[in-house]
Amino acid sequence: MTSLLGLTLGELQSYCLEQGFPKFTAKQLCDWMYQKRVGNFDSMTNLSFKTRAILKEKAQTGFSPAVDCQKSSDGTKKYLFSIENQGFVEAVYIPDDDRATLCVSCQTGCKMGCRFCVTGQQGFHGNISAAQILNQIISIPESSSLTNIVFMGMGEPMDNYDAVCSAINAITAPWGMGWSPHRITVSSVGITPMLRRLIDETQVDIAVSLHNAFPEQRAAMMPMEKAYPIKETIAMLKEYNWFGQRRISFEYTMFSGINDDIAHAAELVRILRGLHCRVNLIRFHASPDMPYRTSDQRTIESFRDYLNNHGIICTLRASRGEDIMAACGLLAGKGAKQ
Ligand code: SF4
Repeated sequence: MTSLLGLTLGELQSYCLEQGFPKFTAKQLCDWMYQKRVGNFDSMTNLSFKTRAILKEKAQTGFSPAVDCQKSSDGTKKYLFSIENQGFVEAVYIPDDDRATLCVSCQTGCKMGCRFCVTGQQGFHGNISAAQILNQIISIPESSSLTNIVFMGMGEPMDNYDAVCSAINAITAPWGMGWSPHRITVSSVGITPMLRRLIDETQVDIAVSLHNAFPEQRAAMMPMEKAYPIKETIAMLKEYNWFGQRRISFEYTMFSGINDDIAHAAELVRILRGLHCRVNLIRFHASPDMPYRTSDQRTIESFRDYLNNHGIICTLRASRGEDIMAACGLLAGKGAKQ
């Protein structure tokens, strides 16, 4: 069975010609899937009965509704999607005034092993396809009201590069959802060669998970520091001129007594000097199995003020969906029905 979500218009045209359909059927399929969010061939009423019958026999769109949805008291919703033979992935819908952001997953589990992350502690179960990434976006009821997509859910996007880029292509292409790439942010622990490729091949915004500016301390929290030192990632980013181009941000989760004092803030200022970027501070969501604790509000604010006073735009990210384990680092692919 061919899965149609995630194929480019050119690939869809080839597929249609192979099946004996007119070439324009490909454009009609794109319109149904990406604009109208229709995944059922029977409802694609401008396709002939014969075309629909062949598609039903030989293809699937790749739409697959969430198997569970948990709603937070703050309006955040966590959707659970089943991935055949690999478990589950989660996507988190975050409404906020005139914005509606969806945080999507790109792998079941994760190889990166960040010590503070519930997903990382699960181990790695597999990559998911572009269709399975796009399905998280297209099959939720709020799909047509989304304003932003962030690749910050389960998995490391740069470790599933081709599927992530195919999904980005479908979101931004005129034949797909037609979005500006600046409505998309891709996060990474800093796999430098792949991040460089992403920068060269797309126009999306970039968020690097930094969390500690001292290499040895960062390696203790994030084992990938040993293979891809943050100083090399930052050096690569400094080769580009970002001013007025796109947003480069660094995610910095605050852990009490670990990375939240002024020495850490000063080192962060030092290593980011000369790079047009911003830092997002994130309050850590303590979980019973983790050795880390949340920094108190005053410490977080002092850290923010230090960065702002030393020329780095720094914001505190509001915490969302903590009561349904939908906040940063809490996604584990465990639904209420499991
Ligand atoms: Fe993977 Fe991101 Fe968790 Fe690190 S924080 S283990 S990269 S999902």
